[in-house]
Amino acid sequence: MKTVTEYFGCDVFSASVMKERLPAETYAELERTLETGHRLDLDVANVIANAMNDWAIEKGATHYTHWFQPLTGVTAEKHDSFITPTKDGGIIMEFSGKELVKGESDASSFPSGGLRATFEARGYTAWDPTSFAFIKDGVLCIPTAFCSYGGDALDKKTPLLRSMEAINKQTLRILKLFGNTDVVSVKTTVGPEQEYFLVDKDVFNKRKDLVYTGRTLFGGKPPKGQELDDHYYGAIKPRVQAFMAELDEELWRLGVLAKTEHNEAAPAQHELAPIYATTNIATDHNQITMEAMQKIAKKHGMVCLLHEKPFAGVNGSGKHNNWSISTNTGTNLLEPGETPAENAQFLLFLCAVIKAVDDYQDLLRISIASAGNDHRLGAQEAPPAIVSMFLGEELNAVLDAIENDESYGSKEKEVLKVGVHVLPRFPKDSTDRNRTSPFAFTGNKFEFRMLGSSASVAGPNTTLNTAVAEVLSQFADELENAESFDSAIEALIKRVIKEHKRIIFNGNGYDDAWVKEAEKRGLLNLKSTPDCLPYMLHKKNIDLYTKHGVYSEAEIKAHYEIKNEKYCKYLNIEALTMIDMTKKDILPCVSRQVSELTATILAKRAVGEYIDTTYEEAVAKELSGLSKEAFGAVNELEKLSREVKEIKESDAAAMFYKNRIIPVMEHLRFAVDCAEALCPTDKWCYPSYGELLFSVR
Ligand code: ADP
Ligand code: MG
Repeated sequence: MKTVTEYFGCDVFSASVMKERLPAETYAELERTLETGHRLDLDVANVIANAMNDWAIEKGATHYTHWFQPLTGVTAEKHDSFITPTKDGGIIMEFSGKELVKGESDASSFPSGGLRATFEARGYTAWDPTSFAFIKDGVLCIPTAFCSYGGDALDKKTPLLRSMEAINKQTLRILKLFGNTDVVSVKTTVGPEQEYFLVDKDVFNKRKDLVYTGRTLFGGKPPKGQELDDHYYGAIKPRVQAFMAELDEELWRLGVLAKTEHNEAAPAQHELAPIYATTNIATDHNQITMEAMQKIAKKHGMVCLLHEKPFAGVNGSGKHNNWSISTNTGTNLLEPGETPAENAQFLLFLCAVIKAVDDYQDLLRISIASAGNDHRLGAQEAPPAIVSMFLGEELNAVLDAIENDESYGSKEKEVLKVGVHVLPRFPKDSTDRNRTSPFAFTGNKFEFRMLGSSASVAGPNTTLNTAVAEVLSQFADELENAESFDSAIEALIKRVIKEHKRIIFNGNGYDDAWVKEAEKRGLLNLKSTPDCLPYMLHKKNIDLYTKHGVYSEAEIKAHYEIKNEKYCKYLNIEALTMIDMTKKDILPCVSRQVSELTATILAKRAVGEYIDTTYEEAVAKELSGLSKEAFGAVNELEKLSREVKEIKESDAAAMFYKNRIIPVMEHLRFAVDCAEALCPTDKWCYPSYGELLFSVR
């Protein structure tokens, strides 16, 4: 058996494989591209395609695919085999540089938000040489960007790469001001911690809501939930252990740095954290991870739920996005330094993130908005829908001291000055204490915690990179023109702290008092997806993306459409599933129950007055009342589901779902859950929450 170090990355056409197999000058060209994003020409691509082809065939691959991330949020692939006919009637296994660099696919079924006229269904995929090709189930997967005939981005990767370019450019301007000329490129890094649930496949299959929507639309709370905190970091069950071992192996073969696996707070909830990587690679790897989780769970007789809120009343699942900026020379720009100059630079980057999060809190909220995540934000363990930042007591005290010209700590006699004093070391654990903050500084990186578990991390990182790039460009404009760099930077940092400290909140984000306080501070509280999406079209936000070449105005409008449409589609499926379950299973089940009870009552009465029927009468009465309520609600839901189809504009339809349809869905659920609580365990039509959450033993 091979050891992990022997097989790690064995299914990846990685830098080291390429170095071994490519002529030195081709590899040097590729390296230049990897470092600076410089475009490769077709001659070079041909040589790489040849080497990739030989490597993949030696490894037993028969097909190749341009692997891309359309706006559905999952990955897409279309398999082509390598076979190429020869003159003598045989075949050879081959693909060319042209096929590597560019693919053409019928894009008409992918969401485009009107970017692509229907007569022009073609879409193109273009190779992203910065993310390595890999072999998955006998198929060579080539990571690509996906765009329309006219060059508009139809995927999540293109804008992400553009945002990385934007932050690279602006960061280099700042570093130059600090006299740092060694650095030729900077990249943002991401380590996304992925939460998920595992449930038994047989139990899962008995729940139409899980099968159709990925979450339970009905279900009363089990007697035991997560209140004992006995699942968090608890012993991992053997079946889950076997799943995790196979998952690790698959991910390691694909070069994914899966690092930590543990049980999460809710029963049946788990987490996988990778070691961080460059943002576009981390994004690809997270997609691979989610796919592998679902595939491998099935092999173990389980289903992996990636939905943000599979169960009401229990923690939902998120994806903590650890984010930082690193130079090609290996410096993490969010790491406090050892010298006053390094610390001035650190404080400047810190302030850039603070200002970016405050200025673009709406876009950050939008970047994580989805029908699924709406259930999570503000509930149980998830951060609230209000965007705020946590810096930790120590760093906060430092910023206070700078803002107010005060000394910091007991030892310092002089007032704390940027560029003159060394910052104290912040104990790392003290920065991670606040789990309720949506955006927390954790010692040398930020952790954006509002992301939903099922969504790609591309969108939120595109927004974050662009927002920070914009603030850095403002800083650079100001500092490049300053007479004295030192006093300009001091003034800039002070001003940013003063103007943007409203976004910093170190208290309990789950507290109701915070909602009031945030309102007083003028922070946005955009509770749902339809509430926040319209902010996408605000001029300041369109200006941001177009200025940095991340999205064109047409692309933003298309994304707006797609996000609204997606929200409506999800809710439509949920509403239809509820209607189906209620009419076909739940109401008949309750009715049978009532008739059984009434039959018992009659039978008992026939025996004589002295046989008591209190229980049967009370329950029959309550159940028939609930049945009436559920029937009324389901009829209303049907009516509204027809009505919403008449609404042409997708944003108006989304609002209708939120304001009119969701309340009826909630009402229906409430009636049904009350009925479930009154029915005998073996008579209810679906496995209970208890059975679901404790199904994997
Ligand atoms: P914490 O104790 O704050 O949770 P960890 O070291 O356990 O920190 O890291 C949590 C996650 O953050 C991991 O996925 C890790 O790879 C990632 N991470 C660490 N450093 C960075 C960085 N510089 N940029 C992005 N992610 C990082
Ligand atoms: Mg963490």
